[in-house]
Amino acid sequence: MPEPTPKADILVIDDTPENLNLLSTLLIEHGYKVRSVTKGSTGIRGAQVMPPDLILLDVNMPQMSGYEVCQHLKADDRTRDIPIIFISALEAVSDKVKAFQAGGVDYITKPFQIEEVLARIETHLTLRRLQNQLQFQNEQLQQEIRERKHAEEKFATIFQQSPNPIAIVTVPEGQLIEVNPSFLSISGYTREQVIGNSITQLHLGHDSANFLRRLQTTETFHNLEFELLTHSGSVKSILLSLDRIELNGTTYALLIANDITERKRLENEFISLVSHELRTPLTSMMGSLDLLSSGQLGSLTEQGQHVLSIGVKNAERLIRLINDILDLERIRSGKITMNWRSCDLADLMTQATEEMQAMADRSEIQLITEPMSILLNADPDRIVQTLTNLLSNAIKFSPAQTTVQMQAYSSADTSSVCIRVCDQGRGIPFHQIQTIFERFQQVDASDARQKGGTGLGLSICRNIIEQHGGRIWVESTVNQGSTFYIELPLNA
Ligand code: ADP
Repeated sequence: MPEPTPKADILVIDDTPENLNLLSTLLIEHGYKVRSVTKGSTGIRGAQVMPPDLILLDVNMPQMSGYEVCQHLKADDRTRDIPIIFISALEAVSDKVKAFQAGGVDYITKPFQIEEVLARIETHLTLRRLQNQLQFQNEQLQQEIRERKHAEEKFATIFQQSPNPIAIVTVPEGQLIEVNPSFLSISGYTREQVIGNSITQLHLGHDSANFLRRLQTTETFHNLEFELLTHSGSVKSILLSLDRIELNGTTYALLIANDITERKRLENEFISLVSHELRTPLTSMMGSLDLLSSGQLGSLTEQGQHVLSIGVKNAERLIRLINDILDLERIRSGKITMNWRSCDLADLMTQATEEMQAMADRSEIQLITEPMSILLNADPDRIVQTLTNLLSNAIKFSPAQTTVQMQAYSSADTSSVCIRVCDQGRGIPFHQIQTIFERFQQVDASDARQKGGTGLGLSICRNIIEQHGGRIWVESTVNQGSTFYIELPLNA
């Protein structure tokens, strides 16, 4: 059988061999490991080399008294914390006081009761263990605090030095509670001007109210294009990501931006340059193709006619694409001035429906429009362009024998009117609901080829509607259909 592990290691220092033997035997019997020495100096050395869990120390010894031994042990880091119990034949109070002053934890008088000795030893060993435990837990806590502080410093540095503008705002108010230096630098505001104010108060976007609505209704979005209005009034293009975060039990929105102003400028410049350069040769090409198909240069075989029609179709698509790019560019940059007029929404709805009727008939789709008569201050051509685009998409992405409906209704407080285009088509996956309003974004990469679109229509629609101070959005369920909404203010 293996020896049971001893309860504790006890050093007994006593110059009387009988005492020493008696104590050692008793303690060993009760499961302690005992080292015993008769001289104080030997005891000190032994304790320094291998510190025991507890020391029983005789007060009266010839060369070095128990008090002196105790003082030595207390002066040494290696032995300072070992509990020392004095043993003495002396009963005087002054001796006990001296023992405690020297650093002893307890005092036992001879002749001793073994139960008392054992009880006192156990008490002090337990105290020591608890003390050690506390010390250990304390060190662990300190370490944890150090690590947390370190992590906090690390994140604070990342926040402060991030080249990306970062802001933390309240939901739903959109009040800025923290921003980093990059945010201040891109927006041109000082910290004092920003903290505590809301996005709408600071007019951080052309349409801050719209942004606030998004903040309230969208849990998260990544890399959406926004235009940031700076303190000086200039406009910066940013890609914005939003996420909800929890801080001290409150939900906030974390906004991280990426300044793409320069990239955007170069991109726009490049697109419009290329589009202009392409348009002239393309128009001339169309002229040539028209001439060929008119038969003025001789008649073509049936196969020749077929090949020619493919050429014409593709050239027409290219021209449409270039026109859309240039159109979007002009609307975005404000080069197209809106032709504001007072007009009746019912007329615009009817006009758009008439334009799309032939396409609906070809696709065997029932087009139902319920025109609503209400006066708008708008650019009628641009609104018709938008409605036509939505109807054309609804027809394009719906199967035959389904219905496309266009209705309008005014808001409860009559401050705006909403137009709804509803189809029973293939729908739009949830993760693409936001992005399809961006340039060249299509649900399916083959849409452009198969459906003849350019991926620019919705982007143009959004620009037109935003220029009218309104907003456009979509709700959709895959394989069930989509509903596009346009909201226009009635006092614009
Ligand atoms: P396109 O010229 O490709 O129609 P848009 O910007 O008008 O360009 O539309 C972008 C994309 O959004 C379309 O290619 C299509 O994938 C999707 N989309 C638009 N309207 C609908 C709709 N009513 N149903 C399903 N998908 C749609």
